[in-house]
Amino acid sequence: MEYEAVIGLETHVQLKTKSKIWCGCANEFGAPPNTNVCPVCLGLPGVLPVANEEALRLTTLTGLLLNCTIAPFAKFDRKNYFYPDMPKNYQITQYDRPSTLAGYVDFEFSGALSRVRITRAHLEEDVGKNFHFERNSGVDFNRAGVPLMEIVSEPDITSAEMAYEYLCSLKDILMYGGVSDCDMEKGMVRCDVNVSVRPKGQQELGAKIEIKNMNSFSGVRRALEYEIRRQIEVVSRGGTLIQSTRRWDDVAEITEEMRTKERAHDYRYFPEPDLMPFQPTESWLREIAQRVVELPLARKQRFMREYHLPAADAQTFVWDVPLGGYFESIAKQARNPKAVANWVINNLRAKLTEANASLPELRFSASSISELADLVDSGKISSKIAQDVFGDMFEIGDAPGKIVERRGLAQVSDTAALEQFCDQAIVANPGPASDFKAGKVAALNFLKGQVMKLSKGKANPALVGEILERKLKA
Ligand code: ADP
Ligand code: MG
Ligand code: ZN
Repeated sequence: MEYEAVIGLETHVQLKTKSKIWCGCANEFGAPPNTNVCPVCLGLPGVLPVANEEALRLTTLTGLLLNCTIAPFAKFDRKNYFYPDMPKNYQITQYDRPSTLAGYVDFEFSGALSRVRITRAHLEEDVGKNFHFERNSGVDFNRAGVPLMEIVSEPDITSAEMAYEYLCSLKDILMYGGVSDCDMEKGMVRCDVNVSVRPKGQQELGAKIEIKNMNSFSGVRRALEYEIRRQIEVVSRGGTLIQSTRRWDDVAEITEEMRTKERAHDYRYFPEPDLMPFQPTESWLREIAQRVVELPLARKQRFMREYHLPAADAQTFVWDVPLGGYFESIAKQARNPKAVANWVINNLRAKLTEANASLPELRFSASSISELADLVDSGKISSKIAQDVFGDMFEIGDAPGKIVERRGLAQVSDTAALEQFCDQAIVANPGPASDFKAGKVAALNFLKGQVMKLSKGKANPALVGEILERKLKA
């Protein structure tokens, strides 16, 4: 029998706020342990949380970016459990009335567009972090109370690779929107992976197995590859799987069972009495709607459509937003946007890296790039010479026309001059000349190269080809 995998992801993302969610402590990674703490985030008795409005805004913004409905009424709840990294012994989260609901993410996957539906994106608080030393353990509460968003997907994902691509797209969207820095190294994105298998064609879902707390996307992919194989093996042998929680061991590359699944009532959820329910007003929502940005996929498709760029070039401008913005500022007025893209991606980017410089430091004006492309297109200079001109542009900032004039680089299209170069080349190279006459077409390129040399690279190569051919066929 053939089996298929069903995957749903719960992705936790730390929000990009200055302060924590219920107190004024800094939301900052890497400070010395327990320095960004106060009675509120340490859960001392008698304190009261005050909601960070920017965290609510960013959650709503995420809802808009993920095509969700924004709930007209949302509230916070307490999720009760004991763990040393959580000083209050409950986590404030949103249980039955989350801020946003029912959206989707569209992304490119194996050459087509895929859609994963989003069940909800809700706001909660992060917990502290346990550290285990040789003889004892410690807890750092700097992370306790950092605003955390949980984005829950529908079980629409069907493979490890698709899960990986979904996560990458989700991350790109959140970074674009300024919702989170999504720095994986700093643990800003963590993921619970839910996966089951079922016979192909069966509607009913198999037993859900959750792999907790993954902190890298490639880890998610590897864990899923392993776990899907394992589950299929169990059911193919006639075994049964039960709902449970597992752990990914990245060294051994296996998952291991931690516990069979707790249920919602184990957490004794109840409404957080110290925080008001949240009902966004029209004007508040309008303000957030203004922060919605063009999504990466939409940007890519628009660059392909409006500037006739190949997918790879458009993708480069999606990944490198400033470079894309720079390209676009030129391309809007350019005759040949594709040529501009080539200059920006192949030449400018390399030069910037080489000089360890950034776009605002450029000495030449942006329009110089389209001017340079036009000089090549019109045959005024060869593309080889254009490289030199670009080098000068980058170094001294002059306009390309000026450089061409000053250095006398204009392409020689004057046929009389070219005829002379061609005659010289033919006389000096009788072998290749007679080879061409005898039908060896490649010999022409050699002669062309000689003419280019004689002209110091300034001859118009197309014209040279025509003249040589005419002379040799005569
Ligand atoms: P819980 O209440 O245990 O957290 P949910 O029903 O809220 O479970 O689902 C949590 C995540 O698991 C969601 O991303 C959902 O899409 C996914 N999921 C639910 N059932 C299954 C299943 N049988 N197989 C794979 N994923 C599932
Ligand atoms: Mg869950
Ligand atoms: Zn605090």
